[in-house]
This record gives sequence, C-alpha cells and structure tokens, in this order.
Amino acid sequence: MKLLERGVLIIGGGIAGCSLAIALAQRGIRVTVAEKLDVWNFHSSGIFVYSNGLAELQKLGVLPGILESGFTIEQGRNLYFDQHGELITETHYPSAPGTTLAPILGVRRSEMHRVLADRMRSLGVEVRLGATVASIEDSPERGAVIATLNDGSRMEASLMVGADGIRSQIRAMLFGILEPEDTGFGVWRSIHRRPPELREKIMMMGVGKRLGIMPISQDQLYVYATSNEPGHPRYEPARLHLTMREKFAEFAGPATPLLNDIRDPSQVFYTAVEEIRLPLPWSKGRVLLIGDAAHASTPFMGQGGTMAIEDSNVLASMLEEGQDVARVLLEFGARRQPKCQFVQDVSRRVGEAGGMENANTCVTRNARMREQAQADVDNFYRRLHEFDLSAT
Ligand SMILES: Cc1cc2nc3c(=O)[nH]c(=O)nc-3n(C[C@H](O)[C@H](O)[C@H](O)COP(=O)(O)OP(=O)(O)OC[C@H]3O[C@@H](n4cnc5c(N)ncnc54)[C@H](O)[C@@H]3O)c2cc1C
Repeated sequence: MKLLERGVLIIGGGIAGCSLAIALAQRGIRVTVAEKLDVWNFHSSGIFVYSNGLAELQKLGVLPGILESGFTIEQGRNLYFDQHGELITETHYPSAPGTTLAPILGVRRSEMHRVLADRMRSLGVEVRLGATVASIEDSPERGAVIATLNDGSRMEASLMVGADGIRSQIRAMLFGILEPEDTGFGVWRSIHRRPPELREKIMMMGVGKRLGIMPISQDQLYVYATSNEPGHPRYEPARLHLTMREKFAEFAGPATPLLNDIRDPSQVFYTAVEEIRLPLPWSKGRVLLIGDAAHASTPFMGQGGTMAIEDSNVLASMLEEGQDVARVLLEFGARRQPKCQFVQDVSRRVGEAGGMENANTCVTRNARMREQAQADVDNFYRRLHEFDLSAT
C-alpha cells in the first residue's frame, strides 16, 4: 500500500492494537506495536464475543484459534432469572447476518491475547515491550510522523495509531487531558470450574445488582456481577473475595455454588466502570485514536472489544482505498463515531435497568422483559447491521 510505505506505528498491544496490526500486516504493511507492559501478560478474567465480533475475528484469520480456546453457546441461549433463581424469560442471540457463525462465545482474555499474538508473530509484526512514546512530531513535508520512544529511539511512520486504552497517553498528547467519566457502576468478576451441564449464558436480575454466568472454555466459566458504586469507593484488596460474596449473597439458584467457591482475593477482579466519549475528530494529522482510547463503553452489551476489532478492520480497508492518510483518518472517525456511540448509549441504558434499586420497579422491569427482551435483542443487532449497510 503506497499510502503507508513508511510503515505504521501502533501504541498499545490490547485488543485494538493487535487487531489493527494484524489487519494491516495481512495487507503487506510493515507494522510495529509499542506496548508499555514489560511482559506479554494479559492476566484477567473472561470476555464475551457476540457473532458480529466473531465475524470480525474471522477477517483477521484468528477465528479457528478463538473457537478452539473458547466456548460457544448453542443457539445463543440466554436464560434470565431473578435473584431467587426463578426463570424470568429465555432469549436467543442471532448469528451475524449472512453467516452461520455462533451467536456468542466466551473466552479467557489471556487466551484471546495469545491467539492474537501468535497471528501477529506469523505475519512478522514487530512488538516492542516496555515501550511508550516520549514525543510525537508530525512532519507533512516528509509525509511521516516521527515518534521518540521512552528508550530514546526514534521511529518514522506513515501513520501512528493510539490504541492505548481508556487512559490514553496519545489522546492526552493530541487533545489534552480528558478524564474518563465515572459511570457509578462496579463489575466483579471471577473464574470457576464449569459444571458439564452448564452450557448457556445466564443473567440473574436482582435489585440494584445483576449477576451473570458464562462458560469460557470446556472446563471453565466466568461470573460477572454488577453493582451500583457511586463515588468510586475503594475496596480493601485483601477482602475482595469476602466483599463480593457479601454483596451478592441474595443471589440464589445457580449463583450459590459459585459464590461459595470464591475463597481467595486473588480470584476476584473488581473494576469501577468508566466511559470515554471523545468528540470528533479522533485524529490529528497522521495520528489517530481507536478502541477504548476514543470510545470506551460500559460493558453491559459486551461490545467494547468488538468495536475495537471492527475499528481495525474498517480502518485497514479505508486506508487501502484512500488517497490521503489524514483525510482517511478524519473520515474514519466520522464513520465510526455514530455506531460506537449507539453501543455506548444502549449499554448505559441496560446498565441502568440492571441497577434499579426499588423492588417494585424491578418487578415491573422483569414483567416487561418477559414481553420484550427478545425484541430488544433483535432490534439491537438489526440496528448494528444497519450502521454497516449505511456505511457501504
Ligand atoms: C468489566 C469489563 C468487562 C468487559 N467485557 C467485555 C466483553 O465481554 N466483551 C467485549 O467485547 N468488551 C468487553 N469490555 C470492553 C473491552 O475490554 C474493551 O473495549 C477493550 O479491551 C478495548 O481494547 P483496547 O485495545 O482499545 O484497550 P485496552 O484493552 O485497554 O488495551 C490498551 C493497551 O495499551 C497499553 N498501553 C496503555 N498505555 C500505553 C502507553 N502509554 N504506551 C504503550 N502502551 C500503552 C496497555 O498496556 C494495553 O495493553 C469490557 C470492559 C470492562 C471494563
């Protein structure tokens, strides 16, 4: 690709950075990824990938590896219970339009990163660990951006992409400090052995809290529970296991044995949920922001990672057809922002419905879910697809 003859420098080796590196390297572009971690260790819990995300992973050539590591839910079956373990309703996620891909898959994050890293390696992507950017200089006369890294080395590239997450350093360097918004939600996650009979996604709707259960491999499942945490409270790390058990103690049925299995603080990942809604433009000259650096979402639709992968595939194909890097980057932001914002808006509403604290309102919510939950799922995925259709 002539447009990128000096190669591409990507800052951040998370889902967005790895996906973009693969999407570009597949097209013959020379790519370097600078990741600030000293070791490739993405130790965390699980992640959901819905069918639209699987379609994006397929474009990157990593779907077989992800399917092998993860667990797909037959017919996208999702059971909703109340906190006592009484069934509210059952819904089914769709396959991506025009495909027979699984409707939803759960996988360990470390496995997803392993598969992405293997693919980068096989495509010859250079990964520099322990690397961050000290300064950026856009040089229109050289048709390049020049970055000085923290070790003093200088890199010249046709394009530089900040894929460095919600607290993006590149975003701050381009546009100044934009603090993530505290949404007032907290997420508690833990990993357990999967009983062989548990093969579907479960979501338990409590009062002010929700608790989900999702298989992530043949022998593991993942619990993710959400609570209202206004004011960003800090929890004692050594007591996280006790705090999680106490907070969700009213959840019965399938939740009970899993909560009882939380015995050590190292089993619990607690995250205060934040959002970034970077106004357009998402780029300056030859430097662009993608993934959480531009549009970190609350996690209630499980789409943040998929939006990051989609950013990468869309950007790579736009660059393939474009004539001018800076213009493509501006057009990319304008194309992606409405869809990412739609996901953020729906996710926030779903979070608020799950966080209702009045027991009577929760009864009404659950009754509405019996009538409406499948239509809500179908509408959401139909709308996502409409964004794609209108962009092509
Ligand atoms: C609780 C929770 C649950 C979620 N569940 C799901 C889910 O089920 N499904 C889903 O699709 N999404 C989910 N998401 C969202 C998803 O995790 C994110 O959207 C996705 O990880 C974004 O990827 P990213 O690469 O943009 O950012 P990140 O994953 O944050 O990666 C950024 C990378 O950049 C590196 N970095 C940071 N600063 C620098 C720097 N200055 N220099 C170099 N490197 C740097 C970091 O070390 C990191 O490796 C969830 C989010 C949360 C908070």
